[in-house]
Amino acid sequence: MPADPIIVWFRQDLRIADNPALVAAVDAGAPVLPVYVLDDATSSDWRMGGASRWWLHHALASLADDLKGINSTLILRQGNSSDVLDQLIDETGAQSVFWNRCYEPDAISRDKALKAGLLDRGIEARSFNASLLFEPWTIETKTGGPYRVFSPFWRACMGKTAGLEHAYAKPKNLQAPASWPASDTLSDWSLTPTSPDWAEGFSKMWQPGTKGALDRLSRFLDDTINDYPDARDCPGVDGTSGLSPHLHFGDIGPRQVYWAARDAADDGRATDKAVKKFVAELGWREFSYHLLYHFPAIPTDNFQDKFDDFPWRQDDDGLRAWQRGMTGYPMVDAGMRQLWQTGWMHNRVRMIVASFLVKHLMIHWHEGEKWFWDTLVDADLANNAASWQWVAGSGADAAPYFRIFNPITQGQKFDANGDYIRRYVPELSKLPDKYIHSPWTAPEEVLDEAGINLGTDYPDPVVDHSDARTRALDGYQEIRKAG
Ligand code: FAD
Repeated sequence: MPADPIIVWFRQDLRIADNPALVAAVDAGAPVLPVYVLDDATSSDWRMGGASRWWLHHALASLADDLKGINSTLILRQGNSSDVLDQLIDETGAQSVFWNRCYEPDAISRDKALKAGLLDRGIEARSFNASLLFEPWTIETKTGGPYRVFSPFWRACMGKTAGLEHAYAKPKNLQAPASWPASDTLSDWSLTPTSPDWAEGFSKMWQPGTKGALDRLSRFLDDTINDYPDARDCPGVDGTSGLSPHLHFGDIGPRQVYWAARDAADDGRATDKAVKKFVAELGWREFSYHLLYHFPAIPTDNFQDKFDDFPWRQDDDGLRAWQRGMTGYPMVDAGMRQLWQTGWMHNRVRMIVASFLVKHLMIHWHEGEKWFWDTLVDADLANNAASWQWVAGSGADAAPYFRIFNPITQGQKFDANGDYIRRYVPELSKLPDKYIHSPWTAPEEVLDEAGINLGTDYPDPVVDHSDARTRALDGYQEIRKAG
């Protein structure tokens, strides 16, 4: 007769390798009941967006397969996590629930209450770290507070790498419970779109789940990382790891990525410089989590409250043009269309489009944050909020507000031959490089030759760059005066 099972509650750790909660359950020698709960109630303001649901569907299918490979079954349930776990405990006689920690404010309060409730009833509840290299409370300034600036934060983290755990090995076999409780099927949850299937292009780029993550990581470390320090800024080349959605859902963990990168440096595949730069980007992810943990209002409130008085504009037409990639600025439009077609956007272009929304259009960063939340496969509360506030100038360690990205010169610098623009804005593909970043400057005969009727085939710019720049700086002056 097997012992009472241990529930392993999967959340943003959809993998069987480097999963400390799963390892602890196996080590306890009891049957293991792997469970995923689709809980839209806990974080209703930040209910998972459409693109994330597409990813979740496929990542869960992949996790279920991986669990099958170690003789287990993923149980799917929908509802309030606490109620669902209670039901499962009643149904199976489980005496323990193990999980890996999440750091979103709503998840923290839910998990705290849930843990207290379980412990009260004599049910063992244990949580572990699978999502971060350094948990937010372990990195402190000399005076014992949180960091607000990235560089000293990351120096403090790097000072602790000697104690960094290695990735946990994947269990070879899970003991099955005496009987399996009922499970939903993935199709019950309708996580993927049907008509229209707006995610059609996603599967050309992504393979959610651990196999896709590991393939990407090894391709990156074998072929790409040495060019990363420069190529990472060029959206026309495949110069970054593309691991962000995998890291968000935990198809792979940051420990696995960190140590694989270090191994690549040790065995000569990667230079120290390239690994240092790549690991520092993982550091920005750590920093976002540090900020979200210590300042849980960052998804909604300006980190610098002087921005509360910024004269944001209500501009529905501008917002729609931005969302649809129809601003008339090719670099911005290419980015917004890459997002729509693939569920992802290159980091350099995220900065350009975000700056365009908050500075050229003076539309509140909340609108951009919301749109990204719904359309990114890597939508992540910490990274998204911290990054939007960084670009807006309202965040911790933010880009200064008066530094306004020029979408034309940014394009000329980082997509000099227009490859990226031609891929996502095909109506401009025949324009010579000289005009690809500012089609309105092309002489009539050049536009004719490229088959473009500006204003019909491709929009005129929704705002003039220098007028918009002046308007944004005036807005900034207003809050400076007030502050
Ligand atoms: P790589 O360059 O290969 O970096 C490796 C990993 O480091 C990434 O997978 C990611 O986990 C992390 N990382 C890299 N850059 C950053 C960064 N600037 N901030 C935080 N972590 C970083 N990233 C998200 O994961 N989710 C979001 O919702 C998100 N929203 C963003 C919104 C805006 C306005 C901006 C400017 C950036 C946002 N980012 C977000 C950060 C960044 O753009 C992506 O993490 C990056 O483009 C992912 O591509 P990659 O995996 O190829 O990155």
